[in-house]
Amino acid sequence: MKALDRVWPLGIRLQLMFWYSVVFVGLMALSGAVFYFRFQTTLAGSLDTALQLQAQQIAGDITEERGAMSIHDATADLPGFDPVDQRVHLPPADVNLGVLVRVLNGHGIPFRTTPAFETVLVPTQSVTQPLHGLPWQGTITTVDGQAVRLYSRALTQDGQIFGVVQVATSLTQVQTTLHDVLIDLLWITPLLLLLSALVGFWFAARAFAPIQRLTQTARIIKEGDLRQRVPLPRAHDELRHLAVTLNEMIAHLEQAILRQRRFVADASHELRTPITVIRSKAKLALLQVFTPEEYANVFQTIHNEAERLGRLISDLLALARADEGQVRLEEETLRFDLLVEAVAAAVDTVAAQHQVTVQVLVSEPVNVRGDEARLMQVVMNLLENAIGYNEPGGRVFVSVQAKQGQAVLIVRDTGIGIAQEHVPSLFDRFYRIDPARRHSIGGNSGLGLSIVEWIVKAHGGAVSVESQVGAGSTFTVTLPLCKRGDVGAPFHQTAEKSERRRHLA
Ligand code: ADP
Repeated sequence: MKALDRVWPLGIRLQLMFWYSVVFVGLMALSGAVFYFRFQTTLAGSLDTALQLQAQQIAGDITEERGAMSIHDATADLPGFDPVDQRVHLPPADVNLGVLVRVLNGHGIPFRTTPAFETVLVPTQSVTQPLHGLPWQGTITTVDGQAVRLYSRALTQDGQIFGVVQVATSLTQVQTTLHDVLIDLLWITPLLLLLSALVGFWFAARAFAPIQRLTQTARIIKEGDLRQRVPLPRAHDELRHLAVTLNEMIAHLEQAILRQRRFVADASHELRTPITVIRSKAKLALLQVFTPEEYANVFQTIHNEAERLGRLISDLLALARADEGQVRLEEETLRFDLLVEAVAAAVDTVAAQHQVTVQVLVSEPVNVRGDEARLMQVVMNLLENAIGYNEPGGRVFVSVQAKQGQAVLIVRDTGIGIAQEHVPSLFDRFYRIDPARRHSIGGNSGLGLSIVEWIVKAHGGAVSVESQVGAGSTFTVTLPLCKRGDVGAPFHQTAEKSERRRHLA
């Protein structure tokens, strides 16, 4: 099949049809052969039984008295055996029409022979063997080559063998019947082959119809219409499973593409705003003559917007790399409690500017494994939000503790709070509840919480929020605790780390 496939590659439908036909015809040939041979043996068996019965019947009519054999009640079945008048009912001499019977005496000399039997070439063994007590049975021929079945048995009286009776029948009829059956079987085979090929092709077409429909829909989807779904076949089989999986995949793709489009639109919008400000401020400074203080003001604005732009770009880059799975976390065992304290200390000045008090509550050393810079970013983003979305005189409570095998960071503020309907989308990229309620810390791009969520998840943790409008919000971050024996390095001031902290501050 492989060689055939190379020379003449068959489509799957033709292959199915081919194998279906091969198996079907193979089975038909096998059952035909079994039928033929069983029919042949049954015919032969019934022929032999008939011969034996006939021989038995004739034997019952023959007796011997003092060396002389006599036949009683020779029936019409045996014309020509009538000892009184053999001329009456003289049977035909043809082996196919006449009766084939011969009776021999104890010396093997024929006593009575029907005319038809004269043409049969009888082997000597068929006489000698029964004279020794064993019946003989076999297929022999006539002088003109016609096959004949012969049965030969001994004639006995009081346990003594006194002769032999031989009955035969022509096999021409049986052979003609078998030949006819064989011819029938042979011409039926190609007809069945054709029929099975057609049925096989039709079955294959039916079986592939759902795949055809799947392909058509997939083609429409390929052309860009991701709202399409492939039709589900009614039967709960592998095809339905495939269709369901395909639909799930398309739904995921659709969602991903929609998210991507929104992300690109939002990102370009976000990037445009600071650039517009920078451009207009620079243009103004070029066109007008300002006092040194006014120039300083313009440059300060340009600097702030450039900072914002820089931060936005690095946030976008971080998220894009995270999406591609390119970000490698530099994991180390560290004291999370000390890290939180350090970040809280870094935002102290900003908090004071906003008249917000940050209170840190750390009661025990808490070790986690993670990327120090990324975890600092998590704490920094949460603290910036807690301070930024607060009221003057407000407070921020930060606590770190080890609880049920997890490091738990809670950042609670007494700020403006978040309405319940916004909570599910809070961690979405560029999601801002109200662009008007911007704070002056950090980027305000709506990326802060999505970055928090990504980093926490990458560390095998989770982040959640509880909030009430006007009463404040509580953000809870859980991270897997370090295994016992793994002691976190003290949050010491290496040159690199202090540099990172200065950058975050
Ligand atoms: P942004 O850069 O705008 O702060 P975030 O992703 O950090 O973006 O936050 C998304 C939105 O969630 C913010 O626009 C803000 O409205 C709301 N938010 C975040 N933290 C707080 C908080 N502590 N209190 C009230 N609102 C908050």
